[in-house]
Amino acid sequence: MRFDIITIFPKIIDAYLGESIMRRARAKKLAEFYIHDLRDYTKEQHRKVDDRPFGGGPGMVLKIEPIAGALHSILKISNFQFPISKRKKIKIVVFSAAGKQFTQKMAAEWAKKCDRIIMVCGRYEGIDDRIKKVVIENWKLKIENLSIGPYVLTGGELPALILADAVSRHIPGVLGKGESLEENRYGIGVPVYTRPEVFQWPASGRGKKKKKYRVPKALLSGDHKKIGEWRKKYAR
Ligand code: SAH
Repeated sequence: MRFDIITIFPKIIDAYLGESIMRRARAKKLAEFYIHDLRDYTKEQHRKVDDRPFGGGPGMVLKIEPIAGALHSILKISNFQFPISKRKKIKIVVFSAAGKQFTQKMAAEWAKKCDRIIMVCGRYEGIDDRIKKVVIENWKLKIENLSIGPYVLTGGELPALILADAVSRHIPGVLGKGESLEENRYGIGVPVYTRPEVFQWPASGRGKKKKKYRVPKALLSGDHKKIGEWRKKYAR
């Protein structure tokens, strides 16, 4: 899977993808990331990528020219390279708090059916809306307008990372054996415990009685049927 992320803050993206499971997925080339600094695609003085909104109002809007330029350069699309049938495997995503809710189901589906996911991170008041028409009319690709949840963030970088992370987990080999898609067996949100079996708190303290916090008995039983039943009960 190839991810392309267009942003004015590439360092935010680099930092997250440089650690832990995402780092390993990159090293193994299971997930490839191309991070594009939007400012590299502007011809304006001082690499300006935003401007005031038509119709007035506070805040700035990301300009269409560098976004179209970045997408053009990423896709370099031709019928030869990407016949229409193959374009189903490409997703172009813009983020907005009012977009369609991104879900776990989409993450799993996209991991299966997509080759490439291209994301445009908005900032300030968002991006010039004409980009949707430009993409469909020039490259025969639809832009997906996605929300990561019902709240407003300052930019699309966290949403892009969330999407990339959630999709990558479903690519075979990204999670190690020890980190399998455990939620597929019982459901999401099963409580988990590790050693010690009995945790005492307060750790120290004169006169204060220590309380014991135990791991649920079923999990210590060694009985797989019992453990399965317990986990199912607690999963969402
Ligand atoms: N007043 C604007 C707010 C823009 S927030 C509005 O009404 O839409 C700036 C950018 O952050 C957005 O363009 C989008 O890319 C991103 N963003 C903010 N909240 C988001 C959310 N819940 N999901 C996905 N992207 C979000």
